[in-house]
Amino acid sequence: MTALLLKNVRPMGVDATDILILDGRFADAGESIPAGIETIDGDGALMLPGLVEAHTHLDKNLIGMPWWRNQNGPHRSDRIETDRREKKRLGIDPARQSARQAVQTLALGVTAIRSHVDVDTEIGTASIAGVMATREAYRDMVDIQIVAFPQSGMLIREGTVALMEEALRMGADIVGGLDPAEIDRDPVRHLDVIFGMADRFGKPVDIHLHELGELGAFSMELIIERTRALGLQGRVLISHAYCLGMIEPARHDSLAAGLAEAGIAVMTAGPAGFPAPRIKRLHELGVLVCGGCDGPRGTWSPYGRGDMLERAALIGQRNGFSRDEDLEFALEACTTLGARALGLPDYGLGSGCKADLVLVDAETAAEAVADVPIRRLVVKSGRVVARDGAPVGVSAP
Ligand SMILES: [Zn+2]
Repeated sequence: MTALLLKNVRPMGVDATDILILDGRFADAGESIPAGIETIDGDGALMLPGLVEAHTHLDKNLIGMPWWRNQNGPHRSDRIETDRREKKRLGIDPARQSARQAVQTLALGVTAIRSHVDVDTEIGTASIAGVMATREAYRDMVDIQIVAFPQSGMLIREGTVALMEEALRMGADIVGGLDPAEIDRDPVRHLDVIFGMADRFGKPVDIHLHELGELGAFSMELIIERTRALGLQGRVLISHAYCLGMIEPARHDSLAAGLAEAGIAVMTAGPAGFPAPRIKRLHELGVLVCGGCDGPRGTWSPYGRGDMLERAALIGQRNGFSRDEDLEFALEACTTLGARALGLPDYGLGSGCKADLVLVDAETAAEAVADVPIRRLVVKSGRVVARDGAPVGVSAP
């Protein structure tokens, strides 16, 4: 039996207490402490649950590679072209890069990741295989979910559907989709194919939806219809959902009611340069919201390290939050709500839950969001995996 005692820590800011972890899970309060077990003094640190990265692209970051000069054109299609070209030209290895990102963010307290992974007619399912290798190699350190993602379009590139099916057979967990009207230019067929695949393979769905205004709202309605029709409530997530940050309030609230009723979650990165869903209003209307960094340091965006505590701060700023309870809600989107959106079992700080946790020097969760302090200790399933911002006993190529 493995055992760890954390002394003098404050779970979510309550009074200091000792936390016993047995066999990777939080023990009951009355459990007796085995003699001679590993003990760490938390020195009054704030204890948070493991951070949840609900949206990234592990297969194509540039972490540890030379700085790449970004000369992207202004449109999403320019970035898709650049992405496909540079993956080959720079030799971006999906296994190596996904390991680098997973280890880097583990040291920042990220213990669960959902990654979209490119499937297209040039790379086939090689990126899926690469990220699957990382998932296996680091399975005790971080939980990784893999979305088969048709980044270059699905219907417009013949053969992509068959490759996505191959990815699901290989072990991808989730069916991905992308801007059904703007990229594939056939929203009904795009969504019918994706939802059909989810139905046949018994998998959840996660769709990138950048489409603006009424176009995005229309695609969202089609997603709601299909989720209901196939009984996929609680298994569909819409990533970005920019349109929700644009449409007029009555239309917004009626769409939100549809999302809530269909159990569809919404992921936001709190983007600075694009419209963003208002997460507090969505939450009030019963929509499950969560946060993600959407790929640190890559050809899409040069910014960030995949830090989900920093992301909570960015989401808070993008939503105009300043009250403590709102900052705490932004953190919830990057922890508890993210875990619910991803369907992570046994998540949280309660007894019996998997002991995934982060210690930081902050008085409250709101202060942690505002300050983004160094992660003093990261524990995954009861095992110390990082100290003072650096990984412990784990490294990447
Ligand atoms: Zn993305």
